[in-house]
Amino acid sequence: MKLGFEDLKNKVCILTGGAGILGTSMAEALTAAGVITVILDMNQEAAESVAKRLKEDTGTETIGLRANVLDHSSLLEVREIVAGRFGAADFLINGAGGNSPGATTKAEQMDPGQISDLSEGFFGLQVESFRQVFDLNFMGTLLPSLVFADSMVGKGKGSIINISSMSAFKPLTKVPAYSAAKASINNFTQWLAVHFGKTGVRVNAIAPGFFLTNQNRFLLTREDTGELTPRGKKILANTPTGKFGQPGDLQGILLFLLSDLSLFINGVVVPVDGGYSAFGGV
Ligand code: NAD
Repeated sequence: MKLGFEDLKNKVCILTGGAGILGTSMAEALTAAGVITVILDMNQEAAESVAKRLKEDTGTETIGLRANVLDHSSLLEVREIVAGRFGAADFLINGAGGNSPGATTKAEQMDPGQISDLSEGFFGLQVESFRQVFDLNFMGTLLPSLVFADSMVGKGKGSIINISSMSAFKPLTKVPAYSAAKASINNFTQWLAVHFGKTGVRVNAIAPGFFLTNQNRFLLTREDTGELTPRGKKILANTPTGKFGQPGDLQGILLFLLSDLSLFINGVVVPVDGGYSAFGGV
């Protein structure tokens, strides 16, 4: 029995949102393990720069390409480029995702004493922002799966990892679109895992707890002083380890779920959350 990640070497992995904070850390783990890594991101410059740095650091083939996970034709174009350079994908990590201020309520709960200002809560949500957040997280996982999983099914082997969130299990206040979209990721992960069950292609998800990154910084820390907001304090009080996650905390589970060490693990959503989801709050 082999107990390392040697089987990952020279496999081809598509990583969407790979120029983001968590994505970059995932790309570091992949390239360190010798996985040929294709960093797809809307931000072409950032994708190219991460890829260049990692290729220099690890010697592993890595490229950064611009792609929009909501644009089917952009993904098909990338598939052609990757196939020409490295061959068909063995792995897909659906990392692109996020929230938006317009899909975030100002108030956590509706206060019956202040219903004169309905814009603070549910009724102040912007429908278009809600749609964008839902699309980015759900359709942005569906479309790359449609485009890149077919080669895995053809080879009879592959692994897809979706990125969920704590908000998928129980919705977080203020972020209804993000919560609903991440819940749909858990559901879709299970559906696709069952659908591909006999093909050799596995589908799992990672649910990060609270990591201080660009998309949640405005909710968890004060812009002027950098101090924790009441919400940031509440999160830490509900995280048994008492800390926010570090991007590198996702690396171990990522490599494990891609590798043959997890061959019989299919359709699971693994929390990486410092115990947040285990804690009842008392
Ligand atoms: P990030 O904003 O740093 O990275 C997201 C990346 O996705 C960016 O580089 C962005 O350019 C790219 N992107 C956005 N829209 C795109 C599109 N249409 N097509 C292609 N690329 C696009 O975010 P992050 O914190 O690194 O989060 C990565 C994933 O982890 C997301 O799915 C997020 O929802 C999830 N997550 C984050 C946290 C956290 O605490 N940061 C917690 C749970 C889950």
